[in-house]
Amino acid sequence: MKKYDVVILGGGITGLSCAYYLTLKNKNIALVEKNQIGSGASGACDDMILLQSKKPGKNLELAVESLKLYKDLAANINYDIGFHNRGGMILIDKDEHMAFMEDYVSKQKDYGLNIELIDKKSVKKRHPFVKDNIVASTYGTEDSQVNPLFTMRAFLGSAVNAGMELYKGTEVVEFNKKNGFWQIRLSDGRELEAENIVNAAGAWASDIGKLIDIDIPITSKKGQIAVTENIPQLGRENIWSAEYIISKLNPELVNASEKHKELGIGLSMSQTSDGNYLIGSTREKGNYSKGTDTEVIRILVNQAVDFFPVLKNIHIIRTFAGFRPACADGKPIISEVQGHEGFYIAAGHEGDGIAMAPVTGKLISQMICGEKTSIDIGELCLERFN
Ligand SMILES: Cc1cc2nc3c(=O)[nH]c(=O)nc-3n(C[C@H](O)[C@H](O)[C@H](O)COP(=O)(O)OP(=O)(O)OC[C@H]3O[C@@H](n4cnc5c(N)ncnc54)[C@H](O)[C@@H]3O)c2cc1C
Repeated sequence: MKKYDVVILGGGITGLSCAYYLTLKNKNIALVEKNQIGSGASGACDDMILLQSKKPGKNLELAVESLKLYKDLAANINYDIGFHNRGGMILIDKDEHMAFMEDYVSKQKDYGLNIELIDKKSVKKRHPFVKDNIVASTYGTEDSQVNPLFTMRAFLGSAVNAGMELYKGTEVVEFNKKNGFWQIRLSDGRELEAENIVNAAGAWASDIGKLIDIDIPITSKKGQIAVTENIPQLGRENIWSAEYIISKLNPELVNASEKHKELGIGLSMSQTSDGNYLIGSTREKGNYSKGTDTEVIRILVNQAVDFFPVLKNIHIIRTFAGFRPACADGKPIISEVQGHEGFYIAAGHEGDGIAMAPVTGKLISQMICGEKTSIDIGELCLERFN
């Protein structure tokens, strides 16, 4: 039976970040991935490190800290992670959304974000192709982006170079605790032993919880995305519609059809470094079907064309869907499970898992090494749901 300090379950960006930060602390690691590295949400998502999308609170604190870590990674890790700081704008096209957005921006400013509301003329200056009946926009300088695939490769490459072992195409079928160590039986018959386990299985984290009889309230919030051919930049900043933010934070304010609301549709647009725009997205609770729906993609693309009529003749070259790991209260679980010493959960980041990957990996590595965490994350324990 092979022995490790830590066995990580899940080869998405969260598990890989945990692996990276744990190997920096000289831990002997194995990572078990049921399918392929990045085959979960981290390989089928947008690429934004968003501060603007969060209300002041723990998620924003995590994202701010993670952005610092991303800047550090971009400067120091031996791989290109595709980090860019382009800023972001939340476009407001309905008068009835103004009051909500004014209050939202003022709270974020009070928190210390570099964000302001700009008028129609200033919006047009930054994004000359935006539709004429825009009302206003937020403008924040700190929102950034990374390439999630590059970032996963960077974490993986660094961790493997530091000795991490990879078990792909297999999953845990049984855990036993013996003499203080976790014994792990994999579906291909191999057995591993570890002092610590990290459940970083994204939208499937609850399946792993069932193996030790704990209830982890995480489910999928599917998101569909359309990818355009590569085109010149429409403007420097990445874009969301106010409706996308409001549908997440205050859905009753959204005046849309029932189908639209059920799908949680709103506009997000970011441009990759190759020039393709990612047009999203939906928030479909409990949906684990991998396919995209032509009607839904049409709604998303029509929204983009409504905001940027110049996109009318641009081709969509592919579509995809990913499963955001959504926790019941919208915050991730980053903690050791009480009564199961050495069993950690790092999952449930919903639409912020790319943004929060570095900070999550760092916090897990601090906990496993018995250090004080750099952020107080008491409120991110599993037991908050008891
Ligand atoms: C449409 C869309 C847009 C998004 N946009 C953004 C964005 O702009 N910014 C942002 O920060 N976030 C965004 N997200 C969210 C982000 O993608 C996720 O929060 C993040 O990728 C979650 O990473 P993860 O590693 O926790 O989970 P995943 O990437 O899902 O990884 C979990 C892994 O665990 C594996 N696994 C499952 N069961 C087992 C098992 N039993 N044993 C071993 N392995 C197992 C899976 O195969 C998978 O590879 C978006 C998501 C979607 C869907």
